Amino acid sequence: MVQRKGEGSRGKHNEGSGDLRERVLEIVRRLEREYPDARLELEYDNAFQLLVEAILAAQESDKKVNSIRKALFEKYPDPESVVRAPLDQIEKDIRSINFYRRKAKLLKSCCEVLVKEFGGEVPKTVEEMTKLPGVGRKTANMVIGGSYGLPAIIVDRHVLRVSQRIGLTKENDPDRVEFDLREVVPEDLWTKFSFLILNHGKSVCTARDPRCDRCTICDLCDSCKVKI
Ligand code: SF4
Repeated sequence: MVQRKGEGSRGKHNEGSGDLRERVLEIVRRLEREYPDARLELEYDNAFQLLVEAILAAQESDKKVNSIRKALFEKYPDPESVVRAPLDQIEKDIRSINFYRRKAKLLKSCCEVLVKEFGGEVPKTVEEMTKLPGVGRKTANMVIGGSYGLPAIIVDRHVLRVSQRIGLTKENDPDRVEFDLREVVPEDLWTKFSFLILNHGKSVCTARDPRCDRCTICDLCDSCKVKI
């Protein structure tokens, strides 16, 4: 968990919660310079497309999902078109994606609920989004932040790993990490912070080989391997 008010100092930076927020602001400033176009790798035109792609991208690369999106959304431009399609047809149309049978089922039931409960519109709150089959907080936040531009902390494996390394959370559960980050990242920066940390995790602070020697936030990170 991140430090709570009145809990004393923590981590190698030995700071209070106000200082931790200051550290986060500096991290955002530096990463903004590093990744001025930070965004999701998935390509999408609207919330429905991003929702579908997020479901397909589980245990699959964003690149692969991007490669089938054009044909997929020509055929399925909205939730109604997915509901109308036979399941075996959806399976065929996404068969190049890992776990396509399970994902086809999820897509169909997700779109059924979208049509029945939400009039075919992708909702704008995490609480409503997570009522959709196959949608957890990560996907909900991804759609809300990525498509609607609303404040959203997106905790994928990269954000989880980098946040732990920096020292912003000690949690392993993505939902708990999200709530830790909500406490130290100003709300108006939630989405930007997520995109920046995600990009940093993919390009510099990788899972196997964090490149601390070329990391712009080394002095702000609890796990920096380089002597400063
Ligand atoms: S200093 Fe190293 S561990 Fe910390 S964020 Fe940078 S690359 Fe990751």
